Amino acid sequence: MADRLRNKVALVTGAGSGIGAATAALFAAEGAAVGLGDRNAEPIEKHAAALAAGGATALALAGDVTSAADAERLVEAVTERWGRIDILVNCAGVTPRYAPPEWDYEQTWDWVIAVNLKGTYLMSRFATARMQQQGGGAVVNLSSIYGLVGRPSFFGTGHDPYPPAKGGIITLTKDMANALGKHGIRINALCPGFIYTHMTRTLTEDPDWLRQMEAMEPLGRLGQPEEVARAALFLASDDASFITGVALPVDGGYTAQ
Ligand code: NAP
Repeated sequence: MADRLRNKVALVTGAGSGIGAATAALFAAEGAAVGLGDRNAEPIEKHAAALAAGGATALALAGDVTSAADAERLVEAVTERWGRIDILVNCAGVTPRYAPPEWDYEQTWDWVIAVNLKGTYLMSRFATARMQQQGGGAVVNLSSIYGLVGRPSFFGTGHDPYPPAKGGIITLTKDMANALGKHGIRINALCPGFIYTHMTRTLTEDPDWLRQMEAMEPLGRLGQPEEVARAALFLASDDASFITGVALPVDGGYTAQ
């Protein structure tokens, strides 16, 4: 077991799947006690049990990040169990591609903004209040390449709530970083390109879409959740002790074009 997060307590939302699951596993392997948050209990309970079986310290915490009561409960559960919270990684997120088909555009818009942007804010609000009391901490928010740039015209309609939600996360990151730096709290964002997870599965399972996405990435391939998790580890760890308020692309070069 490595030890870049030895004696640290972390809470990772969206930890039942994809980037959040990979981040929770990597943080546990690096010595952190990890709270695994997600909407549904089953995937995080299985993941926490597997991590514990491997010798890690892990706790599954079901809750909806769009609910202030749930967000506060998750942060409190972690601090009650381990006495503090050093790291929050906001991975819970949704794409409009998976909105229930019976919803109209307004319901889809509200849902995507609520989970991605409001959820990131609520979790950060309660976690940073605790971090302030204990004298510091680190938050890593999951934005996207589409928080930095618009979609190419063949890919987007201009009516999609995902880019504005992810762009809002970058501004939230910078605004909170400015305000909370004096308390020793660092807040940064990651901007992944296309990553193989449940979120992109309907696209990656279609050979034509997969080819188009690969062609958009200068490295010529999509990323793996573990490649984003390693960037989250860097920003959450003391290796990034003088870095706050950045939006770091983890995108195979997509936004360099
Ligand atoms: P994922 O595999 O779909 O995982 C997202 C997780 O968030 C799921 O377990 C999901 O639960 C959970 N979640 C959804 N709504 C929630 C809520 N209201 N409260 C708590 N948890 C909730 O997606 P991913 O690709 O790992 O994405 C992680 C983050 O990276 C997201 O913010 C995403 O926007 C961002 N990102 C992903 C990519 C990519 O290409 N994959 C690129 C850029 C940015 P359910 O499955 O039950 O809904």
